Amino acid sequence: MSNRSKNDNKKDAQQANDGPGSSLQKPPREEAENAIRTLIGWAGDDPARDGLIETPKRVAKAFEEWFRGYDEDPEVILQKTFEEIEGYDEMITLQGIRFESHCEHHMAPIIGRAWVGYIPNGRVVGISKLARVVDVFAKRLQIQEKMTAQIANVINEVLQPQGVAVVIKAEHHCMTTRGVMKPGAELMTSRMLGCFRDSEITRQEFLSMVD
Ligand SMILES: [Zn+2]
Repeated sequence: MSNRSKNDNKKDAQQANDGPGSSLQKPPREEAENAIRTLIGWAGDDPARDGLIETPKRVAKAFEEWFRGYDEDPEVILQKTFEEIEGYDEMITLQGIRFESHCEHHMAPIIGRAWVGYIPNGRVVGISKLARVVDVFAKRLQIQEKMTAQIANVINEVLQPQGVAVVIKAEHHCMTTRGVMKPGAELMTSRMLGCFRDSEITRQEFLSMVD
């Protein structure tokens, strides 16, 4: 691989981690609030009535929380690692990390849990960092398959462990409250890298923790 294509690959990965929004100009808040007024009218209500007058402001504020992941860099979160681990080289798993995201097709909630595991290669990361990485990617417009891969990939790139495994189970409100209307149905996705991909036993040990 030439230096140039190596650099290009790194740039692509960097852009994926920063989120596609990082290079975009955000519209002013006022414009966002006006758009919400339009949507209220489109839903069939009067955005000027008392109960709805403050709603565009509140929704814009809620968007800042729901989509704060565009302003965070998961590589930075994973940067601080610990090397005094007495040769610990067994599986580390954070189980059932609850998250809320929004699907990029309908902007409807995706509510789910993530299992994140890795087998270290000389260094480990603080466990809360694994949960924060899940959150960074969840707080963006997502599809579950992509989010699963992004979490595994960034842990793999930054920690360079022997392997990484990520499983996500989530309910998609675009199919539970509309469309095919299947409440309770969960989508399960997984990404296995390194020893989790190569060793059936390691993979099974991880998957046995997913409930
Ligand atoms: Zn959807």
